Amino acid sequence: AIPLVVAVSAAIGARNGLLIRNRSAFERARNIDAIVFDKTGTLTKGEFGVSDVVAFDEKMKTEEILKYAASIESNSEHPIARGIIDASDSSYQVENFSAIAGKGAHGTVNGKDVKVVSPGYLKEEGISYPEDKIKDIASQGKTIVFVLIDRNVAGAIALEDIVRPESKELVSRLKQIGVKCLMLTGDQEQVAERVAGQIGLDEYFAGVLPGEKASRIKEVQGRGLIVAMVGDGINDAPALAQADIGIAIGAGTDVAVETADIVLVKSNPLDVMAIIDLSRATYRKMV
Ligand code: ADP
Ligand code: MG
Repeated sequence: AIPLVVAVSAAIGARNGLLIRNRSAFERARNIDAIVFDKTGTLTKGEFGVSDVVAFDEKMKTEEILKYAASIESNSEHPIARGIIDASDSSYQVENFSAIAGKGAHGTVNGKDVKVVSPGYLKEEGISYPEDKIKDIASQGKTIVFVLIDRNVAGAIALEDIVRPESKELVSRLKQIGVKCLMLTGDQEQVAERVAGQIGLDEYFAGVLPGEKASRIKEVQGRGLIVAMVGDGINDAPALAQADIGIAIGAGTDVAVETADIVLVKSNPLDVMAIIDLSRATYRKMV
């Protein structure tokens, strides 16, 4: 039988948008040593806006580069895609679309092979580009993606996402109770560094591919810590499962919500603190 106090806590939680799906994980929440947060859509709003478009190919206008990218992205569900689509007035028809997990998106436009990809993808493929043309933008900690047309790097698009104000407050409160705060992201080093600095995180992992996220959680657990993971995306599900306490934030993907031990319905990062408080209050009463 469920002890009455736990049932009452679960009901109070549910009323406040804290869905407890796994009771033993909820109990472990009072002893969390470290929390690993996903960046995009968790610590940040996940609403990207395009700030710059740079043409490397002098024969192409920036509007045209953006249009090719928007065409590909009209098939993608990544938060970066939304930002690029909104920035372009029009788009072309796309054939053979496919996502490149954690790296970009790909398709055929006007008979040309078009990709929108991360800096990491270019590095892996050994594709070079005029780095000096985006040096200033990169140093501002913006997310940069590249537009490849028939393997030629036509240009770059810079995007900015907004840090949730609640993220900063949460991290300072967690640090007060001695919980270590880390971030995990597929995004670039300079972006991770900027966000981590803004929020006051203890540590971060950047450029992490979807398949590597769970092993990063394992690595932190290997330090002898009880680890919670907070995320929202499809790519986060294995990491949520690996963590001692998997917390899905808000209206995230179904996969993340199904894998999580606890779901924070209101998408407010401060609810992570509410879960810890509720767990401590619940299990304190029982002894
Ligand atoms: P995060 O950990 O921030 O959720 P992802 O693993 O989803 O990041 O993506 C990592 C990186 O891969 C992005 O920062 C971007 O460079 C690239 N990427 C992924 N999907 C797309 C897409 N649809 N269009 C452009 N770039 C993408
Ligand atoms: Mg994500």
